[in-house]
Amino acid sequence: MSLRELLDEEGLMAERCVRCGFCNSVCPTSLVSSAYKPSRTSRGRMVLIQSALEGAIPEVFDEELAELMDLCFGCNRCVKVCPAGIPIPDVVRRYREAYHSAVGVRGEEMLALRYHRYAVTLSKVPRPVTGVLRSKIGRLFLERAFGISRDAPLPLPEGGNLDDKLRDIRPPRWTRRFAFFPDTFYRYVKPSAALRLADLLSRHQISLSLPPQTDSGILLYEYGFYDRLREVTRINVLSLIERVREGEQVLTCSPAATLMLRFVYPRVLATREAEVLAENVVDINELLLELVESGSRPPEPQVGEVTLHSSCLSQFLGLTEKIARALRASGASLRDLRSDCCGMGGVWGIYAKRRAVAVELCDRLVSGLRGHLVTYSETCASHIQSVYAGPVVSSFEFFV
Ligand code: SF4
Ligand code: SF4
Repeated sequence: MSLRELLDEEGLMAERCVRCGFCNSVCPTSLVSSAYKPSRTSRGRMVLIQSALEGAIPEVFDEELAELMDLCFGCNRCVKVCPAGIPIPDVVRRYREAYHSAVGVRGEEMLALRYHRYAVTLSKVPRPVTGVLRSKIGRLFLERAFGISRDAPLPLPEGGNLDDKLRDIRPPRWTRRFAFFPDTFYRYVKPSAALRLADLLSRHQISLSLPPQTDSGILLYEYGFYDRLREVTRINVLSLIERVREGEQVLTCSPAATLMLRFVYPRVLATREAEVLAENVVDINELLLELVESGSRPPEPQVGEVTLHSSCLSQFLGLTEKIARALRASGASLRDLRSDCCGMGGVWGIYAKRRAVAVELCDRLVSGLRGHLVTYSETCASHIQSVYAGPVVSSFEFFV
């Protein structure tokens, strides 16, 4: 089948590109030294798809072209500036979907498909086993076998999970109750942070329950596995909408989860339930802002002076200002606001073939930085921490 036959309406929107280059001016991977080649830019990706649709590229699904598409990590910075209204990262995701149909699944994508399952399994194994994976030999193995850079932060489970322990943290009396959606990271990789959060909220008579759920599907979305994404979306929506009908809202504590539940699920399912669920999602930064502005949080800040990183998704989700207000209201003083992309792009920056670009972007972000840095996302935080010598924390963890 041809690319035109394999792409859906969204993918075909590449044809609207007028080649103005506005997207290049905001695209992180178009602003690094290797983007001197036009094909490595945001505009270049749209032009390549256009040309492929016109039949000017004979090998539409060769490895090289797929790698050029992989330079997009879905930060969404470009969608706001494209005068043709092209959902650029969605076009790339649709190309990846077409690639799977025509050629198959590549190694890195296999990992994305199984990330949730791996995290659940690894959360059950004794710590020495994950310790081996963290060792020099383990890192070498992961680089050889899966292409994960030996220098990149590794999202390996700390051990245990949230499910059992959350039941023990319930306020004796509660005034609000949320259905909690911690996603894979805070449920299986770093449950200790989610438990500290539950403890903090419990002191404010806020109770968290953990309805049946699976991962948010962010990696399925990024890599264009739309069939599997629809299944995951259906599972989560069917379960969470029950809680919404009972009067609860859904609390998320990662940008990926907020993005998926608020913006992606309604598009994937196109049902009233998905829309109602989206309207009832509360991001943890919004809840913390409410708590600190109502004066119900102890006023002592964890740290006096901080720099806030306005990450790609905090910009897209409109949360940067809310995070800044929450920090100020808690007594922290904002030294600086940095809006450059850190280069992590979810898990994009952990791969060896992209590590240099990820580090170049991060170097730019932390240039001249002093003291604490607060960022919205846990993956941004871990990546920045691998480059920057100062302390880095994700925004809700700053409060717990
Ligand atoms: S989504 Fe981000 S990385 Fe992808 S083309 Fe747009 S700006 Fe570039
Ligand atoms: S901003 Fe839109 S129209 Fe302009 S080059 Fe980028 S994709 Fe094409």
